[in-house]
Amino acid sequence: MPVFKANHTEPDILSGFFFVGKRFLSFSRRLFLAVSSVSRTRLPFFCFSRKYYLCRVMKKIRIGYGYDVHRLVEGRRLWIGGVSIESPKGEAAHSDGDVLLHAVCDSLLGALALGDIGTHFPDTSDEFKDIDSKELLRRCMSMVKERGYCVGNIDVMLRLERPKVKPHVPKIRETMAALLECDIEDVSVKATTCESMGFVGNGDGVDASSVVLLLPKND
Ligand code: MG
Repeated sequence: MPVFKANHTEPDILSGFFFVGKRFLSFSRRLFLAVSSVSRTRLPFFCFSRKYYLCRVMKKIRIGYGYDVHRLVEGRRLWIGGVSIESPKGEAAHSDGDVLLHAVCDSLLGALALGDIGTHFPDTSDEFKDIDSKELLRRCMSMVKERGYCVGNIDVMLRLERPKVKPHVPKIRETMAALLECDIEDVSVKATTCESMGFVGNGDGVDASSVVLLLPKND
């Protein structure tokens, strides 16, 4: 009897293992084929979609350049990037004369081919007499947003002989980031002197340039 039982039990266990192993291999094979099939059919589609998406967004990205210059005269406040800086001279202008913000406005308008700051805010209009340039920038940003764009990043360059602007750079970046509705890391502000050369070097004037990247908001 014990021999009879052993003969019947052993093949049952072995066939059980064999059955489970076979099912496992079959399942693995089907899974492999299913994954391969999806990869073969869908992967090119995903790659194409991504490429199409990037091309579509890249086509909509806009770049803008702006430049402005002002004379420096006594009896005026010096405004740089929305910050008032202590100085014996300030910008002569119809508005508050913030040369840096004017260059930024021009770069925003230029990116969308909307003309220049003089077209939108003429210095012959009383509406803009002594106007705060931050308000001009807000209006330019409204035009940018109306057309479905936001600021990706901006890089500005100021040329001023004196006073030194470097201590004010953090405040200028913070002010500009708030006005442009972007992160402070996306606002680069640089300043240099002209080594006593030219109208900037002899303290007669100040100028600024700006390059901005605009991104489509809903893509
Ligand atoms: Mg100006």
